[in-house]
Amino acid sequence: MVPDRARVVVIGGGIIGASVAYHLAELGWTDVVLLERDKLTSGTTWHAAGLMVTFGSLSETSTRLRRYSRDLYARLEAETGLATGLKQCGFIELATEPGRLEEYRRVAAFNRYCGVDVHEISAGEVKELFPLARTDDVLAGFYVPDDGRVNPVDVTMSLARGARMRGATILENTAATGVLTRRGAVTGVRTTAGDISCEYVVNCAGMWARQLGEQAGVSIPLQAAEHYYLLTEPVEGLGRDWPVLEDPGSYGYFREESGGLMLGLFESVCAPWQVDRVPDDFSFGTLPPDWDRMAPYLEKAMARVPVSAEVGVRTFFCGPESFTPDLAPIVGEAPELRRYFVAAGLNSIGILTGGGMGQVVARWIVDGRPDVDVSAMHIDRLQPYQSNPEYRASRTVESLGLVYETHYPGRAMRTARMARRSPVHDRLVAERAYFREVSGWEAADWYAPPGVEPAVERLSWGRQNWFGYWESEHHAAREGVIVMDMSFMSKYVVQGRDAGRVLDYVSANRVDGEPGVITYTQWLNEGGTIEADLTVTKFDEDRFFVVATDTAHRHAQTWLRRHLGDAHAFVTDVTTGYAQLNVQGPRSRELLSAVSTVDFADAVFPYRTARHIDIGFARVLCVRITYLGELGYELYIPADQAVHVYERLVEAGTAYGLRHAGLKALSSLRMEKAYRDYGHDIDNTDSVLEAGLGFAVALDKPGGFVGRDAVAAQKAAGPLRRRLVQVLLRDPEPLMFHAEVVRRDGQPVGYVRSASYGFTLGGAVGLAMVEAGEPVDQSYLDSGEWTVEVAGTRYPATVSLRPLYDPTNARIRGS
Ligand SMILES: Cc1cc2nc3c(=O)[nH]c(=O)nc-3n(C[C@H](O)[C@H](O)[C@H](O)COP(=O)(O)OP(=O)(O)OC[C@H]3O[C@@H](n4cnc5c(N)ncnc54)[C@H](O)[C@@H]3O)c2cc1C
Repeated sequence: MVPDRARVVVIGGGIIGASVAYHLAELGWTDVVLLERDKLTSGTTWHAAGLMVTFGSLSETSTRLRRYSRDLYARLEAETGLATGLKQCGFIELATEPGRLEEYRRVAAFNRYCGVDVHEISAGEVKELFPLARTDDVLAGFYVPDDGRVNPVDVTMSLARGARMRGATILENTAATGVLTRRGAVTGVRTTAGDISCEYVVNCAGMWARQLGEQAGVSIPLQAAEHYYLLTEPVEGLGRDWPVLEDPGSYGYFREESGGLMLGLFESVCAPWQVDRVPDDFSFGTLPPDWDRMAPYLEKAMARVPVSAEVGVRTFFCGPESFTPDLAPIVGEAPELRRYFVAAGLNSIGILTGGGMGQVVARWIVDGRPDVDVSAMHIDRLQPYQSNPEYRASRTVESLGLVYETHYPGRAMRTARMARRSPVHDRLVAERAYFREVSGWEAADWYAPPGVEPAVERLSWGRQNWFGYWESEHHAAREGVIVMDMSFMSKYVVQGRDAGRVLDYVSANRVDGEPGVITYTQWLNEGGTIEADLTVTKFDEDRFFVVATDTAHRHAQTWLRRHLGDAHAFVTDVTTGYAQLNVQGPRSRELLSAVSTVDFADAVFPYRTARHIDIGFARVLCVRITYLGELGYELYIPADQAVHVYERLVEAGTAYGLRHAGLKALSSLRMEKAYRDYGHDIDNTDSVLEAGLGFAVALDKPGGFVGRDAVAAQKAAGPLRRRLVQVLLRDPEPLMFHAEVVRRDGQPVGYVRSASYGFTLGGAVGLAMVEAGEPVDQSYLDSGEWTVEVAGTRYPATVSLRPLYDPTNARIRGS
């Protein structure tokens, strides 16, 4: 029998479910029931290799999860009496080619900033620590003495015991068969032993999570795939305390197991398993290994520790693990159903992040919002179509292999492409666009010149073959006129008698003013941190147009919908109904004047205004606004007339030197102007003031807004000690991408959240969140010596609170 009710029902007794239950109970929410269909760990957890590694991620959230997990596993036995098997024997990551060496130097600097004790060591030192490894081709090792391994079953049992000791109920042999709902929210869980009414459900069902979600109308696009390791017979001379050795260049990792070697594999092309449906009764299961497919990878990996090919094979183990479309976990409250949380899709690092994942989810539920940046893992970043079988089967082939690739900037996903296309896609192909995937859309990144194939010749950390093409697009936007297809942006029409009132209450800025005006605003939570960054255009008293970035598509929509209450206001997603072509640059006014009868003069069509205009046979919403810092206009065109309008622009554009520009140019242009990009340089942990967006907050508007009190309190508390600053390298040579550590007088004070190359400013430019024990103001910036560490070298930098490009907005006014 199951209890009639519980506050939270956690579904799934793998490491994630156990960790969520443990952390809820730890936070005092002890009225928790964990349901496990079979026995604890019977899904994927029982057969994990148990690597416990804190090195390797350029995400602050992931690194925090890893560090917390390791610390938790180290102390859990004292609390629960059950050991976790944590053995801090060390971990070494090998770099055997220059691209990987550069990547790991970048990662090491960032990880050190996050508190990971990582050391770059020589090939000789690798040999000393792991004498059976071949090291003749090793350029360096990255060694973390405190990392190592755990026993995944023991960790899970210890977490489950800890949860139970604090009052949680754990029920094995009890499957959830459905979720009970009312008015879009969870009210209970149906199980094989009866119904449990509850306030919250957490779906931690591992590779079953997708099909369980489907029953409740929640899309969780994860897919199981084969995952391998090989265990050898005992190996003479193999030390039990040797560190774990990982060599992504050879597809393998190595550690001691029962006197023999464990050789784990991440093959570059992998195999999805059970695309239709994971069997309900698959427990403690193994899959028949595909020797033929895996042989080349195995051979390459064995060459790193040659003795592995000489001793006998005890087991070639294959088990399923879930992977997600972008290799980030699927976490958070489902947009489809209130109080339905998900924590699944762990992409082969569920053990080493499991402790932290449970803590994040538990805090999210208890506090009502997460305390770490979740923009890259939130379930609502994903789209329902990604749950389609063909999409999953196609994308999963690429996912597991991504783990061990060198993560060069600009790498485009190769699978499941062409899923979403702008109406002018074919025209951009004809213009030699190089496309990359943007939330599933094919988006033009840059354009090759006539006669040149739009292809990346060689990925690298330096200037790639398209660097010069990008540069000329950048200059065309600054000096002439460009057209940029941004049809992937999220667009909504919000209508109704109360639309203005609701939008004004959800927005930190005043958005319900004069009709025909576009307003830049943030949507905040009650804590004053940012949920969305977008524009609201008021058409008339009961009709508004909201535009947000592609990744915020479902988040912004859900956020608004959930704030509507009983108001007479309705949100319609019109993303695919309109193409978006941006015409930007000092000559944009001339070009638009040539294709339309409308007067674009500043006096009649000023900055931040919007109106419907004629272009050829089409009626187009034209908004005078810019995201790249020049005079410019955004055109929202009914999808069926997009090609027509595009043709008119291109035809007329010849006389004005119109160039096509891609997203690379957008990023360098907007970064010079220090325009923010949600999910890249600002996120849900930043207050609107820290993000430097106080100018867009109407603190005194009548009726207030969500998050107002928190913003007012932070303002009253005095000068900020944490602020986003723009960073420009003085040396024009080095490139920044993300996560480069920023120092003031030699002391690390932050890292670059995102970066690009400022062709106008003359160097790499980025935005960094700086945290200091003192006010971060102009004198703090001016009185320090600033450097940025790029791949092990520190470069002098200029830092600024105001945009380094056109701080007075003279260019935008264009008058
Ligand atoms: C070969 C291999 C090696 C790995 N090595 C490592 C490693 O070294 N380090 C690392 O960090 N990670 C590793 N992983 C990944 C790690 O094992 C997973 O990320 C992790 O176990 C996922 O945990 P989970 O709780 O999400 O899923 P699971 O362990 O699968 O737990 C889900 C649970 O939900 C239960 N369930 C499903 N449906 C229902 C239902 N309807 N009702 C009730 N219960 C239900 C299942 O029975 C199952 O027990 C490895 C994976 C593989 C396959």
